[in-house]
Amino acid sequence: MSKFILTALFVAFAIMGCNKPMGSGEVEPEPFNITLMGVEALPIQGWQRLAIEQAARRWEQVIVEGFPDSRDVPDVGDLDDFLIEFEYNPRQPADRKMGNQEITVFAGSTPTRYRGQDRGVVPFRGKIVIYPGFVDAPSLTNTEWQSVIMHEIAHVLGFTNNPDPLGAFKGLSMMTRIDGKMHFTGPLAAEAYRDILFRQGSKNVSPDMLVPLDSDHNHWDREALKWDIMSPIHVRGAVLTAVTIQAMADMGYTVDVTQAKNPSLLLMLAKPAVGPRFICDGQYISIAVQP
Ligand SMILES: [Zn+2]
Repeated sequence: MSKFILTALFVAFAIMGCNKPMGSGEVEPEPFNITLMGVEALPIQGWQRLAIEQAARRWEQVIVEGFPDSRDVPDVGDLDDFLIEFEYNPRQPADRKMGNQEITVFAGSTPTRYRGQDRGVVPFRGKIVIYPGFVDAPSLTNTEWQSVIMHEIAHVLGFTNNPDPLGAFKGLSMMTRIDGKMHFTGPLAAEAYRDILFRQGSKNVSPDMLVPLDSDHNHWDREALKWDIMSPIHVRGAVLTAVTIQAMADMGYTVDVTQAKNPSLLLMLAKPAVGPRFICDGQYISIAVQP
């Protein structure tokens, strides 16, 4: 390589370097950090504790940019960036029926504090409650346990319509009714959804198609997106797809969409869902919310 090209490259990089926001003083963005509270006190086994830890670290990989620290957070002081409190509730909600299948409520979760309007209505604090039916669920692998916790963490990060009126979907006006069914209006999530359907070979992908929400408006539609972890009914093999990651981007997070996993074609085409099933109680709103 000639001296001239090297010099030109050096100048180009120097100019790119100058384009960084003034005053940030750093080249790399500050990473997104999740602090867990109350995990040690949960009546769970070591591998389940590890799954909680891994689920949080996964979200830290997906969300690639932190927020300004929250000052004087009750119980914690200054907070970088997100606090999730875990709690065990020994009173198992009654099992529900879906068709002839029993569904166990595994957990409930909700954001408890919001950041305000500066970078979208995203929270900085939330709570996850787990029930005996989840702790003692038979034949759940580490991966499945982890994906349930990742599902709950998504809720506390703002993937929710609860609690009124601050839930991100409603707070950011990210829902619309189409033909009587609620849809998520985030354009990035919609694009990812159409892309997955297209690659699966679906012939009914229209360019203005949005992501359908389940009847509780807190999850993706349980049939249409049973392959994503944000379906309310978890099916073995469901993964964190680009639809959910991009929904986070639509809500104001900076994400790394290459962290997404593709749903298996087998699961996408499967008619009746198989494997152990849980429902996340997205309606969990017994926590007082103070903005
Ligand atoms: Zn849920």
